[in-house]
Amino acid sequence: MSSDIPKEMKALRVLEAPSKYYSLETVPVPRAEGSKVLLKIGAAGLCHTDLMVLEGSFGSNLPLVGSHEPAGTVVALGEEAETTGKVKVGDRVAALLPKDVCGKCSDCKFGDWKYCGFSKYGGINTDGYFSEYALVEAKHCVVIPDSMSFEQAAPLTCAGVTIYAAIKKANLKPGEIIAISGLGALGSLGVQMAKAMGLKVVGVDARPEPLDLARSFDLSPNLVIDGSKTSPEEAVKEIIKLRPEGYEGWDGVDATILTADPLSSHQFALSLTRRHGQVILVAQPPELHFDFKNFIFQDLTLSGSLHGNEVDLKETIDLCAKSGIKSHIEKFSVDDHKLMIDQNQKEDRKGKIVLTF
Ligand SMILES: [Zn+2]
Ligand SMILES: [Zn+2]
Repeated sequence: MSSDIPKEMKALRVLEAPSKYYSLETVPVPRAEGSKVLLKIGAAGLCHTDLMVLEGSFGSNLPLVGSHEPAGTVVALGEEAETTGKVKVGDRVAALLPKDVCGKCSDCKFGDWKYCGFSKYGGINTDGYFSEYALVEAKHCVVIPDSMSFEQAAPLTCAGVTIYAAIKKANLKPGEIIAISGLGALGSLGVQMAKAMGLKVVGVDARPEPLDLARSFDLSPNLVIDGSKTSPEEAVKEIIKLRPEGYEGWDGVDATILTADPLSSHQFALSLTRRHGQVILVAQPPELHFDFKNFIFQDLTLSGSLHGNEVDLKETIDLCAKSGIKSHIEKFSVDDHKLMIDQNQKEDRKGKIVLTF
């Protein structure tokens, strides 16, 4: 390990769950071994999942460093990481959350390792990235362009790649219509990405701040629907106007992505989706309630979508860099970590919270 890497570092750890806050501690800097590389963290995002870890929802082994959204500079390579040539010391990278995928299960061999049931997830069941230095897998790193800041790159590793993979899963053609229900961290990136991919985009939320934020983007949705003021019937009438002249087909959007937890938002979004359309779930509410009529009489298909792999992350980063897609960021320093959690609870919050070092 290079001599300018210190022996100790500051880290935000979950000591016991449920806890309201992290504990700011001094811990040893981990060593880069095997297939892993050591990052000097530039920025790490706070995600809804981090709050679930603090609440104890995952039964994680504690103590644990929080966050699963890292971006930083490679400062040391494990022996294997050196031979793969995937990254080198000095590279600015964003990295995906899993560590230690098993390499042996059916998904690692034939499917997509993101479904590996044996992997450890940084910030969830192994140390994450709210620390000055942290380990990531070399193969899960993607080099970011010089034009992209660490605080813009960090949210792409979970929120960004998750919504990107969900849009890709909808498999729509340019000109077709996608609705993104919930314009928080995922949804506000998603409306910009879907627009950049040539889709017509309907953004749906019921809170004024996220609606205003979506309207302010250069890549703003073709239609913004305030679910607190609009009936599904009125919304569908507006959606019909997005179709080209002479359109023959069903009324409503071709696919809908559910990014928000409130059950009322799901029912509203299903009512906007055309017959034989698709609904893709990325939200993780404690329970789901759907009306069978939407699935039987509307012939909707519901599927879930998990984050993404390194190919998806590379595509996400390229798309955001090329199209100037940005998250609305609120930055906090490690010493202001309690303020960061308090700010996250606020009703009128919009965009993404990121810890910077
Ligand atoms: Zn996340
Ligand atoms: Zn596996």
